[in-house]
Amino acid sequence: MVGPPKTLYDLRKVEAALRVTCRACGGVKLVDREALIADRRFSRRSLEWPAVLSDLPCPICSSADVKVAGVPFAEDAKELREYRARALLMNLALTVLNDAARRATEDDVHTAAVRLALRALRPFLADRDLLMKFWEESGAPKGRAYNHAHLVHRWIVSALVSRGHPVWAEFR
Ligand SMILES: [Zn+2]
Repeated sequence: MVGPPKTLYDLRKVEAALRVTCRACGGVKLVDREALIADRRFSRRSLEWPAVLSDLPCPICSSADVKVAGVPFAEDAKELREYRARALLMNLALTVLNDAARRATEDDVHTAAVRLALRALRPFLADRDLLMKFWEESGAPKGRAYNHAHLVHRWIVSALVSRGHPVWAEFR
């Protein structure tokens, strides 16, 4: 990354977390980037980097007297590239499933794209259960007001987050 990030989204380029160093309690904590983006979007706070620098409190003692820095996932370029490629694959697969879930009340979404997305997600999960559930629910009869594929998408996201995968804030 050249120069400081403009927004929290820029930290995705290096899969960075945020390191908060507190001058009050002396604590050092890593803050999950996507959880912070989701949290700030929810409370309608700015995602601009200068705003984050000025209003992110210490996660331990809540002091405002902190130093905030972006810490790349890895210093090693190859390791970082591989991690980033996996993160992108997973998030693109979630994008495909999200789109399918939205259309599933009207359209046949049992397409090759959806099968590919489900396959791509398999290595990120403990088993195939949720993926099979998504396939099943998204194939429910059309013309109903609601399709449970949305719900299953949320479960998949929760499972990925709990396994420590960097799911984009948009899906959380
Ligand atoms: Zn503190």
